[in-house]
Order: sequence, then C-alpha cells, then structure tokens
Amino acid sequence: MLGHMQSQPLLISSLIVHAERHHARGQIVSRRVEGDIHRTDWGQIAQRSRQVANAINGLGLAVGDRFATLAWNGYRHLELYFGVSGSQRVLHTLNPRLHPEQLAWIVNHAEDRVVAFDMTFLPLVKAVAAHCPTVKHWIALCDADKLPADSGLPGLLSYEAWMGQQSTDYIWPEFDENSASSMCYTSGTTGNPKAALYSHRSTILHAYSAALPDSLCLSARDSVLPVVPMFHVNAWGLPYSAAATGCSLVFPGPAMDGKSIFELLESEKVTMAAGVPTVWQMLLGHMQTEGLKFSTLKRTVIGGSACPPAMIEAFNNDYGVEVLHAWGMTEMSPLGTVCTLKRDQMELTPAEQMKVRLKQGRAVYGVDMKIVDADGKELPWDGKTYGDLLVRGPWIIASYFKGEGGDPLVRDEAGHGWFPTGDVAVIDADGFMQITDRSKDVIKSGGEWISSIDVENIAMAHPAVAMAACVGMKHPKWDERPIVVVVKKPGKEVTREELLAHYEGKIAKWQIPDDVVFVDVIPLGATGKMQKMTLRQQLKDYVLPG
Ligand code: ADP
Repeated sequence: MLGHMQSQPLLISSLIVHAERHHARGQIVSRRVEGDIHRTDWGQIAQRSRQVANAINGLGLAVGDRFATLAWNGYRHLELYFGVSGSQRVLHTLNPRLHPEQLAWIVNHAEDRVVAFDMTFLPLVKAVAAHCPTVKHWIALCDADKLPADSGLPGLLSYEAWMGQQSTDYIWPEFDENSASSMCYTSGTTGNPKAALYSHRSTILHAYSAALPDSLCLSARDSVLPVVPMFHVNAWGLPYSAAATGCSLVFPGPAMDGKSIFELLESEKVTMAAGVPTVWQMLLGHMQTEGLKFSTLKRTVIGGSACPPAMIEAFNNDYGVEVLHAWGMTEMSPLGTVCTLKRDQMELTPAEQMKVRLKQGRAVYGVDMKIVDADGKELPWDGKTYGDLLVRGPWIIASYFKGEGGDPLVRDEAGHGWFPTGDVAVIDADGFMQITDRSKDVIKSGGEWISSIDVENIAMAHPAVAMAACVGMKHPKWDERPIVVVVKKPGKEVTREELLAHYEGKIAKWQIPDDVVFVDVIPLGATGKMQKMTLRQQLKDYVLPG
C-alpha cells in the first residue's frame, strides 16, 4: 500500500523559490574582484537566477548540457548555482588553481558548452580557450563596460549584458529528481581526474542534513562566511543549505588573506565560517600579530584535511570560537562526519573534551560508515583498530561521470554497495571516527603503522612551526621511517634537535620521526592540501641519517 502524501521531486529550484518567499531580505554580501563590497539579498538572487535561466535558454543549451564556472565565491556565482541547475543544465565548477593543461583536459572531458569566469582568470581562459573546442560561449562575470576590448576571445559576453536584459519571469521546470545537477572533478593526485556527478535529489538531501544542529547548525539567525570555495564540492553545499534555512551569506571573493577575511568577519557580523586549515592558519597568524579578537564569530567548520589540535585550542581557548571538525570527500557531496559532543560528553573535563574534538566526528544522518580489514571484514569500533573506511548513503557516488574507473563500490553480503574512501581510520564505541591517514600516505615501520597526521599535529603544536608534513622514507631494516618536513613561522627559530625533543613523551619512541627537514614551502594542491607526492619527488635524493 502506498502512502497518500504529495509527491514532489526534490529539485534545487525549490531552494531558491523558498528563499525568495520566506527570506527575501536575507543578506548576500560579496567582496568583488573589483575590490568593492557588493550587497544584495535572497529576493534579488532569486530574480536574477530566473534571468540566468532565460539567458541560458537563449543560448540554446539542451537539457543536461554542462555550463562551467571559473569563479570565486560571490553573488553571481550563486545565481549561476540556481539558474543553471534549476533550468536542468549541469553546473560544472572548475578549479582555477589547476594547471592550464589539466583544466583544458577537464573541460574537454566534461564537454562544457559554456564557461563563465571572473576577470581574475582571463589570462587562464586565454591560455586554454584554443584547446577547448566544445565551449561555444565564454562569459566574463562583469558589467558590460568592464569587458576588455582586447580579450582575444571572439564573441566574449559580459554577464550583466547577457542576463541583465532578460525577463525575470520564468517557471522552473519539474523533472526527475535523479537528474544531474552539478559536477566536480577530484584533484586526480593519482591518474586523470574523475568527476562526481551530483543529482538534484542528492543535493537536497545533503542540504537538509548539513543544516542540522549537530551538523553545521544553520539558521535564519546566522551570517555564514564560506571561505571554502564554491569551485570545490559546491562550497561544502553551503549555498544550498543557506537557501533552505535563510541564513545570510558573506562571500570573500578573491581575498583569502587573514586581514581581508578578518575584516569581513567583523564588518558583516559573521556567526559561522567554514574552510580548510591552511586558510585559518593565515587568519590566526594575522590576529595573533595584530592582537585582534572576534566580536560575533561563534563557530568555524574546519575540514578538508586534518585540523591540527593547536588550531582547535587557539580558536576555543584564545578566541571563544567553537571548532567543528568535519570530514568528507568530493565523492560524498562532501559531508560525512562532523565532530560535535554528545550530551554525556558535556560532563567531561575540558582536556577530555578536547580529545574528542580532535576526531573527525560522527556520521551525519544519511551517511553510514564502517572500517574493514584487507579482506573486507568489518572491524570493531573500539577506538584502536585501524581499517579502511567505507561509506554509503544517498549523496555518495555510485559511479564516476562517464563510468571512468569502472565500478568503484564494494558489495557487502546484503548486496549493498560501499564506497572505499581511501582513508584509514579508527572508530570509537560512541561512533566518533578518527582519520589516521590517507591509505597512500600510511607509513609502515617494522610492520606497524605510524599515523602521519599524529606526527604532523605534534610538530604544528610547536610555536615556531607554521606547517608540517610527515612522509615515510625507505629504510633497509624498518621498511619505512617517518621524517617531518617543516616550514618555520616568519621570524621564529627552532632547531632539528629541539623539534625532535618536542616529540618526547607525546608519542611512542619508535613513532618519533628520524629527521627534520626545513623547507621554505610545502607544495599545496588546488584545494589547499599538502601535496605529499610532489613533496616525495622533491625529496628523492634525500638520505635518512645513519
Ligand atoms: P581530493 O579532490 O583531494 O580527493 P577531497 O576534498 O575530495 O579532495 O578530499 C577528500 C579527502 O580529504 C578525504 O578522503 C580525506 O583524506 C581528506 N580529509 C577531508 N577532511 C579531513 C579531515 N577533517 N581530516 C583529515 N582528512 C580529511
């Protein structure tokens, strides 16, 4: 017997319809590429999204065609989020930090028909345009009078001229909620990049779950600053959850430095901000140097790579800001776990609570997870046993775009497909998961695993260390031994011996790195993560101390 309830497809357009009807005055603030601060609201965004949909129809794009963006976080990008997906085309967010060759490869693989780009990226667009035969239209995200005469791109359109003349009347189409809505390529550290192709249904379900109190806890009383880029996994889905809850959004545009972010947090009375640890490192550095304090910020969501304990402590103890450590992946839309304490854990001492907060957290509703051994056998949740982390749920990929890489899922006895995350983790009895490594970064010494994250976290807690990467080096007896590669804070000093002494008593003796290598920079990838493969290549002539 079927239930007698209304059946409506879960579509991204319903988010912007809701935001306009119920939160029209909710503020959307953007620092623009031009440097000024632009103010609009959900009502205007909704109107302009409909203009975008009409303008896309004018270009003659078919259902399912890919419309790419090469853009910072800002209001125009937000309009494209709704206008493109809502009109049944697929929003393809391109990562501008990629090498031009990689970018062209991705545009061709996705068969993008249109690319809309911020003026910052004009040189990049010029470098790739000739290699992107599928792209029929290039749109510069600027006013008509800002369009450069000598762009070298025939037929280049200005966004405002292109969409600004369109009617604001548009009826969002209804279609199958499983239709593709947007796509994002993984960074492809191994082999060619592969794309996660999200659906309207997966995006809406993710938006609900991300907004929950024990997830990102979003409400119409919040002002949210996503530092996490809209070009990487849809800024962790924040634009969608924001429309659903009616929270205000504050976009940093291209200015990601500590000073600019701090100014926006304060001037726009931001209550919640989200980003990767490297960005927060810059912000905290600026605040420490200038002796600044937050006046409105209550929470930060930190994820994308392990958040060093020293950062959680600094936010919590020095600035009274709660850190929500979160974990996810491009293939997971991206949210998997968030670390929020349970009721009984509120009774723990601050030091014991901190131990919990360092973990990547509990699965949000909609995500199931387990750890397995090399034979695929499920391992206990005892907080000690390491295993490969597998996940399943309605916003986790079933296969990559165009079936690249074949079937990525592993089946259990019931026939359910689980996605192997490539992460190695422990899970405790309360369901708190802690990543110890990406499987390719695991260091095996004398048959035992050493967590590179643990080694990095201890180095990062030293006051002179700005960044630390732990990598395994071939060793004739132990197979591999860890070394730690360190960037010092400007004006601070620490010697190899002092840093090694700093490890004493913090981890087992055999887990202490064999050496410290000081460098000026650690290579970062397109999403701000340390590139250990590149680092290992740079260290190819390195020899462990005898
Ligand atoms: P990529 O494109 O590099 O795969 P993703 O953003 O999809 O980028 O990265 C997902 C990976 O990032 C995870 O599998 C995990 O290894 C790492 N990661 C994400 N969040 C965390 C976290 N909080 N702690 C540790 N590692 C994390």
